Amino acid sequence: MTVLLSLQHISRRFGGLLALDDVSLDFAARARYCVIGPNGAGKSTLANVICGAVRPSAGRVLLDGAEITGRSPHRIARRGIARKFQVPSCFPEASVGTNLRIAAESPAARSRIAAGATPPALADVLAVTGLADLARTTASELPHGRRQWLEIGMALVTAPKLLLLDEPSAGLTDDETLATARMIDELCGEMTVIAIEHDMRFVEAVGGEVIVLHQGAVLRRGTFDEVRADHTVQDVYLGR
Ligand code: ADP
Ligand code: MG
Repeated sequence: MTVLLSLQHISRRFGGLLALDDVSLDFAARARYCVIGPNGAGKSTLANVICGAVRPSAGRVLLDGAEITGRSPHRIARRGIARKFQVPSCFPEASVGTNLRIAAESPAARSRIAAGATPPALADVLAVTGLADLARTTASELPHGRRQWLEIGMALVTAPKLLLLDEPSAGLTDDETLATARMIDELCGEMTVIAIEHDMRFVEAVGGEVIVLHQGAVLRRGTFDEVRADHTVQDVYLGR
């Protein structure tokens, strides 16, 4: 496997609390992953360490073999890690198409192009995110689910190597949840996708590898079925 992102002995302390405790994980290029775990397991801290929003107390983060530990979120974005936050970052008064064009002109997108990446055509992004008929719609008029997909589209136009999604199914209908999982399946031909998720139907539909965090450490990694069948996972996560 070609390793895209390598987390090596990552720990993060908040005062007396060890939110991440010696986490080592390799993520392959063009693969999809779901990170699950109970509340407080360290999932968001892990995502924050990857995108540079939180500095690890110990350990190293390598992207394509180059160390990015402790770099600012802007610099990490320019290296090709795109994060879709739960809080929308689109311009509500602009149309879907304009939002995508603005994102395609962002410093992150420009850096990726300068590094030789080919950003996707806007028409392709509109198609993959299910927004083809909504290019002229004002972002603020989009229903919640479509707005989430616009946010994903705005990440895609920056031609990322890695797309980090924090609870992408939050607030989505069942149909939208499954459509988002299919979207990830389609995208992982082009990039690595890491989704932090609670919704187990979503995790099952995404496929790929599942990583279970518990008390800041990796409890288990494997396929959805392997993880679901694991008694330790059932005890700590599924509450059985
Ligand atoms: P999850 O996303 O899995 O619910 P988090 O990564 O948000 O877990 O949190 C892991 C632990 O770290 C929790 O106990 C949380 O309270 C603590 N924590 C997270 N961020 C901070 C912070 N900025 N300051 C203090 N404690 C934090
Ligand atoms: Mg969280």
